[in-house]
Amino acid sequence: MIIKTDPDEIQNFISDASNYTGRCHAVYFPENESEIVELIKECNISKSEITVSGNGTGLTGARVPEKGIVLSTERLNRILEINEKEKFAVVQPGVLLKDFQDEVESRNLFYPPDPTERNCFIGATVATNSSGARTFKYGPTRDYVLSLRIVLPNGETLTISRDQFRADVFDALIIADSGRIISFQLPNYDMPATKNAAGYFCQKNMDLIDLFIGSEGTLGVITEIKLKLIDLPYNIFSCIAFFNLEADAIGFIETARSFSQENINEENESIGISARGLEFFDERSLKFLMDDYRKIPNNSKAAVWFEQEIDKNEDDITNAWFDLLNKWNCRIDNSWIAIGKADENSFKEFRHAISWKVNEYISQRGLRKVGTDVAVPHESFRNLLQNSKDIVETRGLDYVIYGHFGDSQMHLNMLPQNNSEYVSAMEVYSDICDLAIRLKGTVSAEHGIGKFKREYLLRMYGEEAVKKMASLKLVFDPNKILCIGNIFDKKYLD
Ligand SMILES: Cc1cc2nc3c(=O)[nH]c(=O)nc-3n(C[C@H](O)[C@H](O)[C@H](O)COP(=O)(O)OP(=O)(O)OC[C@H]3O[C@@H](n4cnc5c(N)ncnc54)[C@H](O)[C@@H]3O)c2cc1C
Repeated sequence: MIIKTDPDEIQNFISDASNYTGRCHAVYFPENESEIVELIKECNISKSEITVSGNGTGLTGARVPEKGIVLSTERLNRILEINEKEKFAVVQPGVLLKDFQDEVESRNLFYPPDPTERNCFIGATVATNSSGARTFKYGPTRDYVLSLRIVLPNGETLTISRDQFRADVFDALIIADSGRIISFQLPNYDMPATKNAAGYFCQKNMDLIDLFIGSEGTLGVITEIKLKLIDLPYNIFSCIAFFNLEADAIGFIETARSFSQENINEENESIGISARGLEFFDERSLKFLMDDYRKIPNNSKAAVWFEQEIDKNEDDITNAWFDLLNKWNCRIDNSWIAIGKADENSFKEFRHAISWKVNEYISQRGLRKVGTDVAVPHESFRNLLQNSKDIVETRGLDYVIYGHFGDSQMHLNMLPQNNSEYVSAMEVYSDICDLAIRLKGTVSAEHGIGKFKREYLLRMYGEEAVKKMASLKLVFDPNKILCIGNIFDKKYLD
């Protein structure tokens, strides 16, 4: 196994896309599960901390070590099987999502989860339960995980499939590959009824595979993943619609969302407007992108990127969309409608560009990213949006708002110029998290908690719940070695 200790060579592993930085003294690059088992066993015996790394596109500092060593999954990068008949795939954790999706699509199959950044590893998308634009229709990564192989923090392996181990109310029991029975109590807290990636997934009578999905590397190292695939949709209607009024764009999204929820027949087919994604950009985001996208119509106050899969009744469905766009005063003549795959991809890239440019802006100033990842129930979304704008504008900070508005999820990214604005931005961030909590939402809909958002998880669920999460981790990791500092502060493990 390659081990790197030269500070220049390991520099890359002590930060992630949020610009959160840490430290470690070595990075290990195992090439198979046995090497991981050996390494974890050694760390468990010597009680040394080990942090698992994907490709470092995370936005919460989750893969960033605070001390000890890093286990990189980049050499576990093989697609082991794609079963076209039974529609599943088996992959190692270091497979790039982009490569996997391209390969699957070349076989007329489809893997829907699409965190906007496709340059990430599949193991990490499972560890963070990533989601993206298409989650609106298809749900998060969790919904596609059929089974996992995991190396637990004591070096034992666990093979766990969906429907294999189910909690009895909150009493849980799983059996490691060695035959050892691991029984424990699940924490009992109410998760918000929104898209959510904050803390452990815990529910009464839950499928216990779901505990590991989204656990941010704290319960084990994922070494193999079996994923559900579906048929590749025949055709996509994709459009970026520009509006003269933000209120019209929001009204358009709300109406499209409710049609999308209604227009599915018993065969799960769309019988009218049925979006697979509804993504929003505010005026500030459009201006921020203007230098790179000169074709953005002047004076646009908002834009919505939407997509729908169309297998039948193409004309009826596209006409229904045009009627809806007209109803909400969209500037149809200036809007972008995809003609073919190249346009579809460029619209996707437009959405990626806004997130990417914000990260670039922040790192150029040597600051950390300060962007909300909050979601609230649909009926509270307008309240979240308006009040968040009021909060940030009172401080006079520059910002952009975009995100997965179909799922009532908002990324409000502050654009601080310097340290003192960064401090203000953090106060705004904190106020918006509090607002989302008051509205019965989540402080993290998709990025997870990592090290950056622990304080807000504490506010969301309260200290008792966080202590229960820490006790749950100790069931699997009594020597406190794996991904320490993710989800909750280390002090809760003492
Ligand atoms: C421009 C941009 C846009 C983004 N948009 C989205 C978005 O729309 N939706 C979204 O969900 N995310 C988004 N992200 C965040 C990020 O892409 C995802 O969180 C992604 O899943 C991280 O993958 P990674 O390989 O980079 O993981 P890393 O950042 O390296 O690690 C993430 C976490 O996974 C753990 N981990 C990694 N591999 C394993 C393993 N094998 N076993 C156990 N734990 C493991 C790490 O310990 C860490 O806790 C975006 C990021 C960027 C830069």
